[in-house]
Amino acid sequence: MAEVIFRGGTILTIDPDAHVLDGDVACRDGAIVHVGGAYTPAGRDYEIVDCDGCVVMPGLVQAHVHTCQTLARGRADDLELLDWLRTIVWPYEASLDAPATAAAARLACAELLLGGTTAVLDMGTVHHTDELFAAAEASGLRATIGKAMMDHGDPAIPPGLRETTAASLAESERLIARWHGAAEDRLRYAYAPRFALSCTDELMREVGTRARKANLRVHTHSSENQAEIAAVEQRFGKPNVLYLHDAGLTGDHVTLAHCVHLRADERECLAHTGTHVAHCPSSNLKLASGIAPIPELIEQGISVALGADGAPCNNNLDGFLEMRLAAILHKHRHGPRTLPAPEVVKLATLGGATAVGLADRVGSLEVGKRADVIAVDISGPHVAPTSSPWSAIAYAVRATDVRHVAVDGALVVRDRKLLTLDVAKVVNEAQAAARRLFR
Ligand SMILES: [Zn+2]
Repeated sequence: MAEVIFRGGTILTIDPDAHVLDGDVACRDGAIVHVGGAYTPAGRDYEIVDCDGCVVMPGLVQAHVHTCQTLARGRADDLELLDWLRTIVWPYEASLDAPATAAAARLACAELLLGGTTAVLDMGTVHHTDELFAAAEASGLRATIGKAMMDHGDPAIPPGLRETTAASLAESERLIARWHGAAEDRLRYAYAPRFALSCTDELMREVGTRARKANLRVHTHSSENQAEIAAVEQRFGKPNVLYLHDAGLTGDHVTLAHCVHLRADERECLAHTGTHVAHCPSSNLKLASGIAPIPELIEQGISVALGADGAPCNNNLDGFLEMRLAAILHKHRHGPRTLPAPEVVKLATLGGATAVGLADRVGSLEVGKRADVIAVDISGPHVAPTSSPWSAIAYAVRATDVRHVAVDGALVVRDRKLLTLDVAKVVNEAQAAARRLFR
């Protein structure tokens, strides 16, 4: 199909002036060629997607997810971070074989695309990262993925996840050669040292050097929980963000998940280095980690994006739920005007694209950008009547209201049906794999 035309919706372009337009969004050969007003197809080869009663907007970009973890949904409830990792999540990840990793990733991709998330930054696990890339490739999701790096001898890390520094780097290089830029640049690689406590200082510094040299992104966790922060401080003699900075792991190419507890000098460091923060409000609340100081970070000029984190700490990957929570969570401290609807919708789209290094390609509906477009039904009884599309998207809609999704101009969801994977089969395989792993 040469052209796909999203016809007749209310368009949120997410351009600097926050335009709201009526009419069509047209895509040709993967790129956006028209935004707003009526579009006449260029030739005979086109498909019209009815968007009556919908908001048409850029796909959501989640800057922190773990697609490998979806089989542990509902298996790790009501724990704090380090217990959650040591008693459930690390043993789970250690037991993942290739078929189970693939089943987890396909389930995540199906949930993400059906829910209007078109791009993610994914922290994989130590092994079987090829399966995560393969699932993203097959499903049509835009994904920047890295294998989790875990070369530190913490006795709590199960043997199945422990690796040598050399093996961790070698596997990363193999994956970069195979996947970075694949599927016409829809798939990219990001180095993913899991967090300071799972890595040797040698590995962290080497990743810092290699990422800059190869112009690759770095994705890690930082400053999520007080016990983690105390352990980092004890091991390295400085707070987490300042340690990462010292190891060469800050900058415009770096995305840190969480940043719930930061000192003033750490915030300064994030601001002056241009390091991105992925805010994961559901995960932070469920693991009782705390509430990240997002309005303060934004006020300081720090780039903020949103992420659902993983199924075992959320328990779903619904980008609209994270948007609503981010919009309402900070109002009690900063007042009701904090993070108004247009601002939080921007965080979930262009903010995500910026944090993943894709702002030149996706995150807004502008002619010339790649066509990652979603149509969200705002006519449901839980959304109507609608006076503002911003309000509907930020506060009222759910992932299940997403009607159509295109990534790179290809329709992957049409009338709420995933076109790229058999969802019933994906769910059955995930259930069978989860039963096998947790037996
Ligand atoms: Zn995470």
